[in-house]
Amino acid sequence: MEFVTLNNGVEMPKLGFGVFQVPDAAACERAVSKALEVGYRLIDTAAAYMNEEAVGAALAKSGIAREDVFVTTKLWVQDAGYEGAKRAFQTSLDKLGLDYLDLYLIHQPFGDYYGAWHAMEELCEEGRIRAIGVSNFEPARLVDLVMNNKVVPAVNQVEHHPFFQQAAAKPLMAELGVQPEGWGPFAEGSQGIFANETLANVAAKHGKTVAQVILRWHMQDDVVAIPKSVHAERIEENFDVFDFELDAEDLAAIAALDQGKSSIVDHHDPAFAKMLNELKVH
Ligand code: NAP
Repeated sequence: MEFVTLNNGVEMPKLGFGVFQVPDAAACERAVSKALEVGYRLIDTAAAYMNEEAVGAALAKSGIAREDVFVTTKLWVQDAGYEGAKRAFQTSLDKLGLDYLDLYLIHQPFGDYYGAWHAMEELCEEGRIRAIGVSNFEPARLVDLVMNNKVVPAVNQVEHHPFFQQAAAKPLMAELGVQPEGWGPFAEGSQGIFANETLANVAAKHGKTVAQVILRWHMQDDVVAIPKSVHAERIEENFDVFDFELDAEDLAAIAALDQGKSSIVDHHDPAFAKMLNELKVH
């Protein structure tokens, strides 16, 4: 495993396992157990994924020492605000069956996330969370949060894949000392990504799969990746990315796939903001 060092000195695995859209508890526990068996040591869940208990069950049964896994969960919009964040943190911890978190993220830049951030700063100072961060914060939101608070987010988890490479956001994150973490490394399977000709050519050149090329590209770009799969063979495939290197020609070909925007979500769409505010997770 390769690691990145966050702005507070905490080490984070560069490749992890995500569990979005795995609401079935048995399926989630099975997938996380498989991932841990394969060697993943970063698990990315969220209160809104409704599967923190299943993640916790897999962690407990794995027998892996607590300090050897890096567990991330996220605060949902409904729980934004100082008091809400303190309560939601404890609820997530209880569901996961843990007594501290490695990384706690503000899931969306909506609601009273300043109040939430203050609560998270305190929890971090108390040692109950090793690192705090945000998700889906576009450059202006991120700068504003940094300029008005004590703790700089350790991580910003944003959509990141060959079709949306966050070319403007990544240099800013580097300047601020915020580690980029990519969600949806496979663009959630959209736009025929696994059959994309450019990616398939690079994959064939290295005797690897398109999924492995995409994840290798994340590793070489120092973007933490958290691919999701519920299939054992894909969970294995997605972890097997440390034995080859993309060259300048491969990287240039992948760079040319960037569309510069998301085709999955639109944080500027009022209907999307309304939907996220209305989604209740408890
Ligand atoms: P993703 O990882 O880009 O794509 C997952 C899709 O790709 C699934 O349909 C999966 O199918 C398929 N897949 C996985 N590996 C494959 C392979 N080797 N070959 C072919 N197909 C493969 O999408 P994601 O789950 O949305 O993103 C990853 C993680 O990021 C999430 O699980 C979550 O932890 C996080 N996330 C965060 C946010 C946020 O707002 N912060 C938003 C979205 C996601 P099967 O499962 O059927 O194998």
